[in-house]
Amino acid sequence: MPKLAVVGQPISHSRSPMMHTAALAALGLARAWTYEAIEVAPDHFAARVRAMPREGFVGANVTVPHKLAALALADEASEAASAIGAANTLSFAGGRVVAENTDAIGFLDALPGSPEGKSALVLGAGGSARAVVWVLLDGGAEVAIWNRTPARAEALARELGGRVAKPSRVADAVSMGAYDLIVNATTVGMGASSNDRAELMSLPIDADALGEKHQLVDLAYGAVETELVRAAKARGAQVVDGLEVLVRQGAASLRIWTGLDPPIEAMREAVRASEWQPKKDPRT
Ligand code: NDP
Repeated sequence: MPKLAVVGQPISHSRSPMMHTAALAALGLARAWTYEAIEVAPDHFAARVRAMPREGFVGANVTVPHKLAALALADEASEAASAIGAANTLSFAGGRVVAENTDAIGFLDALPGSPEGKSALVLGAGGSARAVVWVLLDGGAEVAIWNRTPARAEALARELGGRVAKPSRVADAVSMGAYDLIVNATTVGMGASSNDRAELMSLPIDADALGEKHQLVDLAYGAVETELVRAAKARGAQVVDGLEVLVRQGAASLRIWTGLDPPIEAMREAVRASEWQPKKDPRT
């Protein structure tokens, strides 16, 4: 029986098992394939992954904090994974470990329309920001990068391209409509609770400046809608939330492992089930 898993630490919060189990059921593979969560500490990651093919695993998602290590141990890597410097999807075939980065493809699939010609502002310079910057530049967007620690934004722009947004001017540029696409790739909003309004203040954008002319993608997600998503929706922006990006990266991984068209709607329903609720706009 082919086995799949998500490997990370911590892992109990992951929605991937729920999402992929629903997907396998929708594909009629529930009796043949399984998907489980495996918690592994960094010291044991490489050995654990190397043992997986012998245990019947044909692939794995990799999440925090192992995405760099996943690329490092792979025998082969896609162009995206190599350029981004991280992998979130591994396939085991013929004794080889093949690494892919579906965070990039997933982001692109979730984005309405093409990035070509767009002026994008990416907030963050960590692993997911790298994937977003790479795929946007590859797709023909102009990319400005802001990060809380400016040196990391500079290093990212030097390595992958794009320009560093001047911290003092980012908020004004957003207000003046200089960007049509804004991507939150920071952890602000991660594990969103009903009380994350203050955290949003650490991003250099004024929610009141967002409007119909903006597309907003928030990679972060939590138990409720993030404050950024809520504020952007309330002001008429076109919004993609972190759960949609999660679905799309998962779908891309599933296609790699099974060669089948992923059942997107079943995956969406699974990640949005039960504990996730859109937050009420306090002004309504
Ligand atoms: P990293 O740890 O690699 O990077 C974290 C980033 O967040 C850094 O740029 C960091 O800035 C910034 N940051 C942290 N705290 C703050 C703060 N208080 N104010 C402003 N910036 C802050 O994380 P990842 O890139 O892996 O993940 C980023 C987010 O994207 C997470 O919420 C994660 O859950 C989400 N994600 C969602 C996916 C999805 O499918 N929806 C896929 C992948 C990630 P600094 O350099 O200054 O520390």
